[in-house]
Amino acid sequence: MSKSLLVTGGAGFIASNFIHYMLQQYPEYHIINIDKLTYAGTEINLQGADASENYHFIKGDITDEQLINDIFTEYDIDGVIHFAAESHVDRSIKDAKAFIESNIMGTSVLLQAARDAWNKKGKLAERRFHHISTDEVYGSLDLETDAKFNEQTPYDPRNPYSASKAGADMLVKSFGQTYGMNIVISSSSNNYGPRQHPEKLIPTVISTALQGKPIPLYGDGKNVRDWLYVDDHCRAIDLIFHHGNALEKYNVGGSNEKSNIELAMIICDMLDHLKPERQHSHKELITFIGDRKGHDRRYAVDDRKIRHTLGWKPLTSFETGLHHTVEWYVDQWQKAVL
Ligand code: NAD
Repeated sequence: MSKSLLVTGGAGFIASNFIHYMLQQYPEYHIINIDKLTYAGTEINLQGADASENYHFIKGDITDEQLINDIFTEYDIDGVIHFAAESHVDRSIKDAKAFIESNIMGTSVLLQAARDAWNKKGKLAERRFHHISTDEVYGSLDLETDAKFNEQTPYDPRNPYSASKAGADMLVKSFGQTYGMNIVISSSSNNYGPRQHPEKLIPTVISTALQGKPIPLYGDGKNVRDWLYVDDHCRAIDLIFHHGNALEKYNVGGSNEKSNIELAMIICDMLDHLKPERQHSHKELITFIGDRKGHDRRYAVDDRKIRHTLGWKPLTSFETGLHHTVEWYVDQWQKAVL
């Protein structure tokens, strides 16, 4: 059955991969993508998708109430999948304002517009609002002893980015409880794959290495993240959006805990293989810089709920996913320098 879905932030990393995935998986769906095209979003990420007559792009800000209400009037939106956010922790530490505006205010504007539009049609309990959140809302684990984050782990955000995402999660939850909206929240671990902004860790490691520049790692490089291939995340969102229980939360992890130094070493090995002309290993470029303020030590996600209730599991091994990712960035880099 055809559906019209409003995807927010679709010119960014995860949502652009999600739009490509959805257009292929559900060719009968209409995807309306609203994105402000901040520094983090680019329409280049949607090349290919933009040829589909079922894809519509609106350049706009999710905090713009008039625009968001107009979208709900113009399109009969069956569901919202809300990715748009300021997403870089370092930027939030320098200035939190845009994070409060987009991540909290923007989420509240979307919730109110969806609630009002769906209420008018008598379809509030039927139409779904899926909020994309992060494992960072749970705070930080210690390296050895703490159990992984599960859906019951209390929130303990420790930087303005994760605090703004936690605030958005609370708003979404409250709209479910207060108005009976059909909301669902998913929290994933760190994603990797094509189309990520160059400021994030994996693209930074690859691009600095390719340029023969120091590969910067924060602190002692031992901070641990649980890496999830973006296509596996897209499949999880598809399942949760279509089959998840209303008012519930699902954690999505990669089962790939790696310290930043381990990750950088693996990428360097792959680059050594792809670029044998370099005389020394790329590993020699790894450089430790001062630590990020309040740097969370370890994230790890217990995703047994989505595995047991929705039958999801990651299909891409870390080795395969990272290989594909490294090759993709090397290819982009070569196109840019030629
Ligand atoms: P991204 O920074 O790559 O993309 C964000 C997109 O949102 C950009 O295209 C940007 O232009 C758009 N945007 C920002 N503010 C907007 C506004 N006010 N109005 C309209 N568009 C706006 O982010 P990402 O890494 O793809 O993350 C997407 C979502 O997934 C975020 O909500 C993030 O919190 C969450 N998440 C990301 C990760 C990860 O590893 N990247 C992990 C877990 C959760």
